[in-house]
Amino acid sequence: MISFLDLKARYLELRHELDEAIARVVSSGCFIGGTEVEQFEADYAAYCGATHVVGVANGLDALHLALSAMDVGPGDEVIVPSNANIATWLAVSQCGATPVPVEPDVRTYSIDPALIEAAITPRTKVVLPVHLYGQPADMDPILAIARKHGLKVLEDGAHAHGARYKGQRLGVHGDAVAWSFYPDKNLAAMGDGGAVSTNDAQLADRIRVLRNCGSRIKHENEVKGYSSQLDELQAAILRVKLKHLDGWNTRRKVFATRYQQGFADCNLTMPFVPDWAEPVWHLYVVRHRQRDALQKRLDSTGIETMIHYPIPPHLQQAYSGLGYTPGSFPKSEQVHKEVLSLPAGPTLRLEDVDMVIGAVRAIVSTMS
Ligand SMILES: *Cc1c(COP(=O)(O)O)cnc(C)c1O
Repeated sequence: MISFLDLKARYLELRHELDEAIARVVSSGCFIGGTEVEQFEADYAAYCGATHVVGVANGLDALHLALSAMDVGPGDEVIVPSNANIATWLAVSQCGATPVPVEPDVRTYSIDPALIEAAITPRTKVVLPVHLYGQPADMDPILAIARKHGLKVLEDGAHAHGARYKGQRLGVHGDAVAWSFYPDKNLAAMGDGGAVSTNDAQLADRIRVLRNCGSRIKHENEVKGYSSQLDELQAAILRVKLKHLDGWNTRRKVFATRYQQGFADCNLTMPFVPDWAEPVWHLYVVRHRQRDALQKRLDSTGIETMIHYPIPPHLQQAYSGLGYTPGSFPKSEQVHKEVLSLPAGPTLRLEDVDMVIGAVRAIVSTMS
């Protein structure tokens, strides 16, 4: 049995350091608003090369608070990928604004910069690319279009801690990056967590106020804020995990390289990596026309896979109000029908990867 995710193995590998960090916080008696969060913010800012990191309760809040701090509100539009995690769209909706989907480049699954300009209207405020599956979106053309039209750029970095675009780590390319530390991400808490990185001091300050009920001074509320804190326990855990992030990303890269070589002459669409991208392989995603049959047969040989994501946001019941139908975003719909994520987590063994390669090759060779 090869499981897709083994979060317990990730704990056991760092057990000693994690137990010590957890005990330190528990015995300090300080659970919200202490030095662990401050130190994690400083550590992660240094890691990203950003001047500010603001910890919040989760990745969706990181997106939502960053958009709010950019003054996105009712009547505004935000450009989002049509193939996305629903959270990216929900953050826009939580501001009272409308997500405006743009199709991906089907080789990289990232928002296609060539299609963004046609989606801009006088109501557009922000462009929100997602660094999907751990591969950076093509930031330079996105930033050029945003600059030309006076728009902000917020990146969704939930899959891409440590990934590099043209040699530089994600964290400072756009106006801000929203991060999630959900337990299955590359940099993961043992519960919920999130953050925003930015070089904009004013934006960071606004998010700090928003996360704390709109308050800077106790009992004085400047704005109608939210309660969205990264807690001390998660921050202490994240400080431990951050030290191991590059090592674990390197392992993911070894597995991804093995897959790329193993599938080189196989009738399967493999991830395409442009020469300017250094992905961190949050997910290793292949495509096949008979995806469902492939997944079922892998499952029967004891190999667990996942689909990211089975239903595109525009066809979710939650977004039926936008009036899209099947066919509205055909590239995205095809991607959602064909993608399959293979096991690629950092605690896998190389033998497991080889077994997956063997099983996939054997199954695919019997398919048209
Ligand atoms: C996980 C995820 C989020 C949301 O993060 P939470 O911490 O679960 O709120 C947002 N965007 C993407 C792409 C994600 O994968």
